[in-house]
Amino acid sequence: MLSKILFCASLAAALVWGQEPAGRGGPGGRGRGRGGPQPQATQEVKPGLFMITGAGANTEVRVTSEGLIVVDGKLPSEQNYNALMEQIKMISPLPVKYLIVTHHHQDHTGNNDRFIAAGVQILAQENLNKNLVNYQANPKPASATITYDKEHTLTLGGVSVEAHYFGRAHTSGDTVVYFPDLKVVAVSDIVTTGTTGPLADYAGGGSFLDWPKTMDGILSLDFDTAIPGNGGPITRADVQAYKTKVETFVARAREAVKQGVPKDQLMMQIKTDDLGWKPRVPNVDLFYAELTK
Ligand SMILES: [Zn+2]
Repeated sequence: MLSKILFCASLAAALVWGQEPAGRGGPGGRGRGRGGPQPQATQEVKPGLFMITGAGANTEVRVTSEGLIVVDGKLPSEQNYNALMEQIKMISPLPVKYLIVTHHHQDHTGNNDRFIAAGVQILAQENLNKNLVNYQANPKPASATITYDKEHTLTLGGVSVEAHYFGRAHTSGDTVVYFPDLKVVAVSDIVTTGTTGPLADYAGGGSFLDWPKTMDGILSLDFDTAIPGNGGPITRADVQAYKTKVETFVARAREAVKQGVPKDQLMMQIKTDDLGWKPRVPNVDLFYAELTK
């Protein structure tokens, strides 16, 4: 399973695995299908900040007087890119200056090449480009043009947008995007919504054990609204509650290992029915390894 493409776009609880190039139907899409363009829609989160749903993960658009700072660029295809640009043009006629990509999965990075061709600088945490090396997506997303280690602030038209790396969770290169003047944070797939549980992409450096600590970093920011990778905006209390649930899951997993539950029974033995979701563990070996370290 390690070598398979990893999508995190699906709202379905089922993890979507597949080698098929984007543009063909894949399993787990719950009839949404990945063929052809998927509808996109824009909503205002706060004045000057918009989110665009559909065709992959949520995209955020921060408007400034000198251009736009965009977060995550949808699943790869000319149609998805063109439809995204149509949504963006309805928000503002100003050009996109920066794209921040929150991790390497192609529902966030799929159109990096098209943004680069349009003259857009792409910012990512430095592990994103490393994770792309072995990422077997077809087409493989283009690398970010600017990378950072812990923190990087973009300033445009008097507006600051901060990229933060707080550690491993969904992958080893998860960027949290903070809009300080609006008290909004984009948390990407560090927080899932509905019945979709958290996914630690171990092949991409993800970690359930580090996840709560990474969320402490998010909670150290002064925000009242969070935008997850999929689904609508949530509150600070929602983020806090999500962290508690991940902690509960990890504590139960640790206890199960301590009690001697063998690896092949681990996931069955951990109680999750009161969490509202099932954690997605694509590699139990590596999960077990970090629990016994
Ligand atoms: Zn993802």
